[in-house]
Amino acid sequence: MYKAVVIGGGPAGLSAAIHLARANLEPLVIKGFEPSKYLITTMEVDSYPGFPAGVDGPTLLDNMAKQAEQFGARIRIGNVQRVDLSKRPYAIDIQGYGTVEAESVVIATGASFKLLGIPGEEANFGRGVSICATCSGYFSTGKKAIVVGGGDSALEEAIYLTRYASEVTIVHRRNELRASKGMQERARQYGKIKWALNRTPIEVLADEHGVTGLKVMNHETGSEEVIEGRRLYVAIGTRPNTGFLEGQLPTNERGYLLVKPGTTETGIPGVFACGDVQDPRYGQITSAIGSGCMAAVDCERYLDSLVVEEAVAL
Ligand SMILES: Cc1cc2nc3c(=O)[nH]c(=O)nc-3n(C[C@H](O)[C@H](O)[C@H](O)COP(=O)(O)OP(=O)(O)OC[C@H]3O[C@@H](n4cnc5c(N)ncnc54)[C@H](O)[C@@H]3O)c2cc1C
Repeated sequence: MYKAVVIGGGPAGLSAAIHLARANLEPLVIKGFEPSKYLITTMEVDSYPGFPAGVDGPTLLDNMAKQAEQFGARIRIGNVQRVDLSKRPYAIDIQGYGTVEAESVVIATGASFKLLGIPGEEANFGRGVSICATCSGYFSTGKKAIVVGGGDSALEEAIYLTRYASEVTIVHRRNELRASKGMQERARQYGKIKWALNRTPIEVLADEHGVTGLKVMNHETGSEEVIEGRRLYVAIGTRPNTGFLEGQLPTNERGYLLVKPGTTETGIPGVFACGDVQDPRYGQITSAIGSGCMAAVDCERYLDSLVVEEAVAL
């Protein structure tokens, strides 16, 4: 039986593993078959503290994994299919690996971005298609950008991009936006933002240099048209990776795990959550790493409390 099992091998899970391993708790880390899917394609992370020249995503993750292993963490690749959190020790079923038992569990499975699923989208990731303006907005400098989405985060991305882009067109399939009235009013104050409502994206267009525009169906005219842009940001929402939990932990209305404010405690003793899976707001490597450290500290204290309980019972 493991004292601590960390589910997820992204920045949050590896940060938790480093701190748990440093505390001699020999955690098992289960990192999914698709480790930090988007981070491993990011060739330059320039906002991570301590790397003034930037660092690429895969190197950052590799170094964190080495650091965790060096202190005694074991890292296995496999997807957790289900967990049983109804009694201790907790049981964790790992595809292709079997079931392991743990006195405590740290959930760090991140969140996935919803995609449009149209031709040209996947093929042009890193060639103009992006899902994170804060991470790559700089590359829009002097170019026309397109943001697809009608919620608060889409408008926030568009406003952020006005710092760099020459023009930002917001494309949304309906006439009405889902974004709050306040956010809509804010966005409408930016002269650089253009609106292409009532239009459904059909295809991402590209040439040998990358994205050139977005083909859309204009529902007002019933005909197709092309919106020009060298950068395309897909901002139609995120989905936290919690399917394997089968509803055993409370979530908010968007499916993000709920934790007791200021902690990583989920409501089930000994089960902690960190990183993007419990964070609908910040979604950055540094915030994920910070909460991974918090989860490890919460976990250590919980395990210490079990030792005290057992000593009192004897
Ligand atoms: C394109 C892009 C660029 C970005 N660039 C930056 C940047 O420059 N700077 C910045 O600060 N942030 C950036 N971010 C955001 C940053 O990547 C995330 O905030 C961060 O990776 C969150 O870390 P996490 O550990 O919570 O989740 P993730 O990194 O998503 O890791 C989740 C882990 O859980 C695993 N997993 C999921 N489900 C299961 C399962 N069932 N069983 C086992 N394992 C599972 C996955 O395989 C993965 O290992 C970027 C995001 C994107 C999309």
